[in-house]
Amino acid sequence: MGDCIFCKIAQKEIPSSAVYEDDRILCFHDLEPQAPVHVLIIPKKHIESLDAVTDEDRDLLGYIMTKVKDIAQELGLENGYRLVNNCGEDGFQTVKHLHFHLLGKRKMTWPPG
Ligand code: IMP
Repeated sequence: MGDCIFCKIAQKEIPSSAVYEDDRILCFHDLEPQAPVHVLIIPKKHIESLDAVTDEDRDLLGYIMTKVKDIAQELGLENGYRLVNNCGEDGFQTVKHLHFHLLGKRKMTWPPG
């Protein structure tokens, strides 16, 4: 938390271009977009990764999932999108604060690299 860049973004110590914010979550543009639309959705609460969630976080995680479609709609992703969570070393997680990538406005491929 002390050194967590996403906590600092959530606390406005580091600027970000926010797309959506409420008391529990923040959504902002990724610094290195991998698609024409690439935003990150984070809980304001510091949770290291999907691997670190507890029963206490069930409502928060459900809340995030219900917000995805609203944010996608706001960003004009009417043709679909991809929601990604990178977890841990093998998942190539680089920022140790739970976040979901929401990507859109291009045709995705499968499998991911
Ligand atoms: P991860 O690899 O799944 O952990 O994703 C971390 C994401 O955070 C990467 O896509 C980075 O480009 C993005 N990122 C890192 N620092 C910042 C920042 O300060 N603002 C916005 N995005 C960031």
